[in-house]
Amino acid sequence: MRIYLDNAATTQLDNEVFKAITPYLLDFYGNPSSHHQHGREVKNAVEGARATIAGLLHASPNEIVFTSGGTEADNMAILSAVYAHHIKHVITTPFEHHAVLHTLKALQNNGEIKLSFINTDSRGNLDTGHLEELLRQNGPSLVSVMHANNEIGNLNNIELIGDLCKSRGALFHSDTVQTMGHYRHDLAKLNVDFIAASAHKFHGPKGVGFIYCRDGVQLTPLLHGGSQERKLRAGTENIHGIIGLARALEVAYQDLDAHRAHIQNLKNRMIAKLQQQIADVRFNGNSAIAGKSLYTVLNVSLPFSYASGNLLNYLDQHHISVSGGSACSTGSASHVLEAIGADTSRNNIRFSFSKFNTAHEIDYVVEKLSVLYKAMAA
Ligand code: PLP
Repeated sequence: MRIYLDNAATTQLDNEVFKAITPYLLDFYGNPSSHHQHGREVKNAVEGARATIAGLLHASPNEIVFTSGGTEADNMAILSAVYAHHIKHVITTPFEHHAVLHTLKALQNNGEIKLSFINTDSRGNLDTGHLEELLRQNGPSLVSVMHANNEIGNLNNIELIGDLCKSRGALFHSDTVQTMGHYRHDLAKLNVDFIAASAHKFHGPKGVGFIYCRDGVQLTPLLHGGSQERKLRAGTENIHGIIGLARALEVAYQDLDAHRAHIQNLKNRMIAKLQQQIADVRFNGNSAIAGKSLYTVLNVSLPFSYASGNLLNYLDQHHISVSGGSACSTGSASHVLEAIGADTSRNNIRFSFSKFNTAHEIDYVVEKLSVLYKAMAA
């Protein structure tokens, strides 16, 4: 048995998604830009996928542009605000994914933007009063705030932030990579200009995602070449990826509430069992607070001085796959834990769950941690 509790890094492909993809690998191989039957049938499928996604999110199909994933969508949102909308000031948080933070820092280092960070507390809650102040004090701005953090799971109130941005005339980008397919997004109601999504975080294929860009807001292409995606994203489309992305979102929405309840139960079970077995276990950020954190993520701070890599190895040897934080920054200290001032002398582990996990798996993992804890305390 291998236990996979690293679902914030990536998820297992859903069988329904696999079934939807295979015809586009084997039978429908035309290039959607070709003006013949082979091309047309694939073009229709791509447009069908776009319409499916737009329908689920209450957006219009022309607001969805397919990308290679969340990183590209984040880059595109930010660069579009700066180059198409001539934004010179960006407000963000220290907790953003590197796809956002490194893009913003590169622009800052080039002297192209001034960058401001919203004040936060030691749980990672954002001071929206400070955001208002920053919006008041500065000229036209872009606000880039993720919907939920991929390491500590904190959920941000993007409805409120969207409203603030709208009232101040600021553009708003939200990285929704960790919430897409796990929460229902109503883009007809949410005041947001750009969102970024990635299929592999909700049981879709890797290497595909999309950017939503509100009608009337300009996008700047990052890639130049052919006229795919209405000249916004050159290059032959990742057809099976796009088909899989749309199917994954459909499947996620079908049973979203039941899966959410199942996963939240697993998370609650893990919190309760850890608290029973390990004195002074703590949870980073809002991770253990239901409704204020992703139901899929639990960031645990263990009272161990076991070197962090070794703890992950110990779990790996016991057939448990987890990570210390973001998969993309493995090996370096977590900027998120640093930003909330978490105690990094303790071992911090991110457990992230999916609909495929079971209570038995949770019990097994807590048991292994408890054995180690007792051995270390002895
Ligand atoms: N944003 C967040 C919050 C993420 O968790 C990730 C993936 O880890 C990304 C962006 C990047 O997405 P992708 O892997 O599709 O490029």
